Amino acid sequence: MGISKFCNEPFTDFTDKKNRKAFEKALEDIQKRFTNEYPLVINGEKVYSDNKLRSYNPSNPEQIIGTFQKASVEQALGAVEKAHAKFSEWKNVSPKKRADFLFKAAKIMRKRKHLFSAMMTYEVGKNWAEADGDTAEAIDFMEFYAREMLRYGKEQPVTKIHGEKNKLEYLPLGVGLVIPPWNFPLAILAGMTTASIVTGNTVVLKPSSDSPAIAQMFVELMEEVKLPAGVLNFVTGGGSSIGDVLVQHHLIRYISFTGSMEVGLRINELAAKNQPSQIWLKRVIAEMGGKDTMIIDKELYDFDDAVNGTIQAAFGYQGQKCSACSRVVVDESIYDKFCESLALRASALRVGDPWLNPNMGPVINNGSKEKISDYIAKAAEEGGKIIHGGNSLSRPGHFIEPTIIKDVKPDDTISLEEIFGPVLAVIKSKNFNQSLEIANNTMYGLTGAVYSSNKKHIEKADKEFFVGNLYMNRKCTGALVGVHPFGGFNMSGTDSKAGGRDYLLLFMQAKLTSKKIIKK
Ligand code: NAP
Repeated sequence: MGISKFCNEPFTDFTDKKNRKAFEKALEDIQKRFTNEYPLVINGEKVYSDNKLRSYNPSNPEQIIGTFQKASVEQALGAVEKAHAKFSEWKNVSPKKRADFLFKAAKIMRKRKHLFSAMMTYEVGKNWAEADGDTAEAIDFMEFYAREMLRYGKEQPVTKIHGEKNKLEYLPLGVGLVIPPWNFPLAILAGMTTASIVTGNTVVLKPSSDSPAIAQMFVELMEEVKLPAGVLNFVTGGGSSIGDVLVQHHLIRYISFTGSMEVGLRINELAAKNQPSQIWLKRVIAEMGGKDTMIIDKELYDFDDAVNGTIQAAFGYQGQKCSACSRVVVDESIYDKFCESLALRASALRVGDPWLNPNMGPVINNGSKEKISDYIAKAAEEGGKIIHGGNSLSRPGHFIEPTIIKDVKPDDTISLEEIFGPVLAVIKSKNFNQSLEIANNTMYGLTGAVYSSNKKHIEKADKEFFVGNLYMNRKCTGALVGVHPFGGFNMSGTDSKAGGRDYLLLFMQAKLTSKKIIKK
């Protein structure tokens, strides 16, 4: 049977009672895992260490979601060596067989999708729809990259020439170090890892210390589809304790990283330094932070749609998306009305425990809560006026109100730095040209959006708004695999365009073989 065309996994309709019941059951069932302790997995062996890493529920920080290992430096380095040993075998497995592992895994994940989503509800504070979206994206990545590998595995077109037979084929690179963040702890982790595996690389996967439990479920899924031991090696532990040694290891061929600019820059710098007996330039695929802007023009198709789009993009998953709208630049002629409407919409957002499916849950940890609160204080100090929220909730857990700050100036701290929380800066602009100038005034370039009914303005933004993912008359979050390949410019990273046709090339190298035709 042929492979069907790729199509996106549909989101669950939670207005359907049957789906709500199924999700509630998953929320109940997943709790059985919380008391378990999970090992490192190195070459298929379960390995324990003396030091433990615990994952906590950000809504209820006393609740442990699972116990994991803090890998020692020796264990981390051992994982690289095992992955290297396995590479000579795995690289020769056909693209079709490798793709089959992804197709099987996607099928199983689809069947049990609510269990994966429920784990994210507890571990990283996603409400039902956000968790469901994360799982759907993970399924999409596996389905998409499996098909992509079949395409790259076929005969590649080269110009024909008389007297020679020429062949271009894509080979894997070697051992990849995969380092995902906690905010899309399943989708991004599964995307970067399965892109590595399907292209014939072996992997050392170091998940975020804030989300090892959902990473563990992915590793078990790979065991279930019988991915050969050693292809995926799972090493939990702090980035600050084992990150550098992993990045620097001479057998690491590439690093696939998604996370903050600070850590991305460090990895890039360390990876650039050639190590004794290293015989390649390490490749760094780094997707980093954003300071994403939505422009609201004075001419609009639908004022309320622009307000709703801004609210969703700013406060969906508590603003903890690299693509989240953290500043909205509004034309002065509609500024006051827009600010009032934003505050009114924000006041209807329910904040609470994510398993009860509010609009917003907690932020990821206490450090993050404090950092966000500091940014809010700084904004007020610099002249911003808080028109909604501004406080943390007086209850256990890391909760911050949806916060809107108006009269932020283009060069204020909260206009330029990534906050990564539920804080929206509103900036007044004189005209569309100035709005574009403001939108381009940070070191980042990830996503952006323009709401305008003026065709000339849309054309101008199309040319001049310098971001990797630009959206017109819709919000700047919610990229779909295959539909909106994703990645940013400047300090937002290497513009890898995850979920796009170019992505797998980052994990491979092309070999050309030319044979002279000799007639006897
Ligand atoms: P982070 O603090 O940079 O951590 C990301 C990963 O790097 C984690 O697994 C972390 O492990 C690890 N790490 C930390 N120090 C390291 C080191 N010295 N060497 C190697 N690895 C190290 O980022 P985060 O807080 O998890 O994620 C939020 C950030 O990711 C935001 O800036 C967001 O914009 C960005 N992001 C970007 C995209 C995109 O596509 N551009 C997508 C999602 C998120 P530990 O947890 O153990 O420290």
